[in-house]
Amino acid sequence: MEKTRKSNKRLQTAKELSRVVADYYKECGAAKADGRPVGWMPPMNGAIEIFYAMDLQPVFPENWSPVCAAFGLTPDNFDVSEGMGYSRDLCGYLRNIIGYVNGPINDPSFPLGSLPAPDIILSPGGGCIPVMKIFHALERRFPEAKVLTSDLPQVAVEDIQEHHIKYAVEQINRLVAFLTEVTGRKLDMNRLSEVVQLSDRACALWDEIMTYRRFIPAPFSAAEMGIMFVMVTRQGTRIAVDFLEKVLAEIKERAANGIGVIENEKIRLFWDNIPLWYNMGVFNYFEKMDGVVVAETYSAAWSLRLDTSNPIRALALKSLMSYPLVSCVSIKKRREMVLKACRDYHIDGVVLHRNKSCVPITLGQMNIKKELEETLGIPSVIIDADHMDDRNFSTAQFQTRIDAFMETLHAKKQSLAMKIP
Ligand code: SF4
Repeated sequence: MEKTRKSNKRLQTAKELSRVVADYYKECGAAKADGRPVGWMPPMNGAIEIFYAMDLQPVFPENWSPVCAAFGLTPDNFDVSEGMGYSRDLCGYLRNIIGYVNGPINDPSFPLGSLPAPDIILSPGGGCIPVMKIFHALERRFPEAKVLTSDLPQVAVEDIQEHHIKYAVEQINRLVAFLTEVTGRKLDMNRLSEVVQLSDRACALWDEIMTYRRFIPAPFSAAEMGIMFVMVTRQGTRIAVDFLEKVLAEIKERAANGIGVIENEKIRLFWDNIPLWYNMGVFNYFEKMDGVVVAETYSAAWSLRLDTSNPIRALALKSLMSYPLVSCVSIKKRREMVLKACRDYHIDGVVLHRNKSCVPITLGQMNIKKELEETLGIPSVIIDADHMDDRNFSTAQFQTRIDAFMETLHAKKQSLAMKIP
């Protein structure tokens, strides 16, 4: 078993993230004492803005799993869920959260104060099968919680039609009616409008931050991707906007002064699939061979804008798009997105993380590999790992493959340079 390894961060603002994370979980813990109902829900949809606008506390069990991984607590949670009969082949998020809610959830010494039990559960009727099953298990674990099973059409991003949006609008209205009924709180449309404007501002900032990664040298790498925490948990709040504005200011300054992640950036890499949350330090491994991971699949989930003139419709569209942009996108679209990112970010090589416990995001990688080589002449390497379970990751195997891959990329760059008159 590999030891948890933290990444080496260069951004001052990314170093501040631990305070932002701690504040959020403190707020979750305090919600019950303050009389604010707590709702557990999947991330990347429009429910978060509705919750903040109604002064309810959103909690994201999937997002809690990377936090457990960062603290090295997943092995104990896996022991609990595997003891209950859940197979090691299932999604690591599922095994971790089921182990956690049936294990240490009430342990007062658990980092960040643990999670408050849900008063409300938003159970998705779409997305990948594991994410639906996580919420079915939560419904059984917390029978006193009020449950709304949402029903969004599962449609590829490029195929979204007006009738899909209309249906999603009905679902957002259904969510508001449900929350009003179970909490007695009314949705103030002016407040929702403010929240959606903040959410849109966060998306705009996110896109602008990502754009600066096109600079050579790149001002920050995938090792800093924890900044996405605010996009998952704080969208629609001033906290997210203030934090991202600070990140942007720092990145702009680094870019303006030509300050890169490393002094001598020679190889620019794209990472496909979810990071290894228990070992974000793998992103720093490339640096000893003058390589920087400058773009990745996961950051696409918030690369969208919200129509602030029509908040309910904007949240409906966000709900249809955000999760599919990463997890349920068609292979054709995923291929297009990876190829576009490789062009935009001047990528020399692609690392395809073949993720043992996430089939939806791993599907189509051989197709992408072929297309990258045939269309763009970009070499790629497959590494076998798992976004949550370090038993499915071998540091030695990873380093051997990456060392050989980086040598190939350097050799290719050298031979190209020699051909240039
Ligand atoms: S998309 Fe992958 S990582 Fe996310 S819940 Fe589904 S199987 Fe797990």
